[in-house]
Amino acid sequence: MVHEIEDFFGVYLLLCLNPRYKGRTYIGYTVDPNRRIKQHNTGSHAGGAFRTSGRGPWEMVLIIHGFPNNISALRFEWAWQHPHKFLSLKHVPVVKRSSETAYQHRWRIVCHMLRSPPWSRLALNVRWLKQDHQLDFPSNLEPPSHMPVVFGPVRSKKIQGKQNDKGSPRKKSSSSPAQQHPHTADTDMEDEDCLIPTVVKKNPLCSVCHQKLKTDSQRLSCFWPGCSMVSHMSCLAQRFLGNDLDHLIPVEGPCPGCKRSVLWGDLIRHFKGCYQNMATCNPEVFDGGSQDESPDGHWADDLKS
Ligand SMILES: [Zn+2]
Ligand SMILES: [Zn+2]
Repeated sequence: MVHEIEDFFGVYLLLCLNPRYKGRTYIGYTVDPNRRIKQHNTGSHAGGAFRTSGRGPWEMVLIIHGFPNNISALRFEWAWQHPHKFLSLKHVPVVKRSSETAYQHRWRIVCHMLRSPPWSRLALNVRWLKQDHQLDFPSNLEPPSHMPVVFGPVRSKKIQGKQNDKGSPRKKSSSSPAQQHPHTADTDMEDEDCLIPTVVKKNPLCSVCHQKLKTDSQRLSCFWPGCSMVSHMSCLAQRFLGNDLDHLIPVEGPCPGCKRSVLWGDLIRHFKGCYQNMATCNPEVFDGGSQDESPDGHWADDLKS
């Protein structure tokens, strides 16, 4: 089964299958993994990278996805390619060991990265596209518990929710967060819940501060079918962070409405229109608003832990 994911930003690892260049690897960023691997295997004239051109076939073995935007994914790509330049990886022996293949070395580095800030706080998925090349996590390098390890092919697709009208019934989506994040999946959920129309009130109250949510405010809503929780983005962030004064963006917390555990990254994806949501999304507001990274500062600032 091909998994379809909206608003896809991924960083992948290629492994060379050509006997002449056997064992070579390549790290890249993509919004469309299926198109990208075709380009790599067709050559640089078709948009493939110069380094991979004419050395195929390449196999896309592993992809890390769930980045909130292209900038976040591009930073991850660059850090994976240049781990020695990153302060947050200073404690890591980043040089390839003589006992390691290039492929094993890339894997060990990415395992460290998933556990290091700022990436350790993102709602990422570790996806093995080719299980026959799957490697185990080195001891003590398991990913954070909110990051699922998943298997099989993936396809990026356009955000569906943008076309939906307000108040339209929500259909059960193949890319529901329950499937993308098995750690938060609730198997008790009944199918009929999915058919309950979600009524969007004009000025609902924030579930946290109980003030009116103006139409132009940055409002988050719960993506679970049947839950009508809405809140100010800042209110829910503060609620989830609690006494954590070191961070601005939370990792996860209980929904004030349905009490299910929700990843902040999933709430933001829902805000942007993923998971066939109602049309409350406004990407422009999001782009200029509170996100993981400040658009003004130098992006390497985020990497100082
Ligand atoms: Zn509020
Ligand atoms: Zn909820």
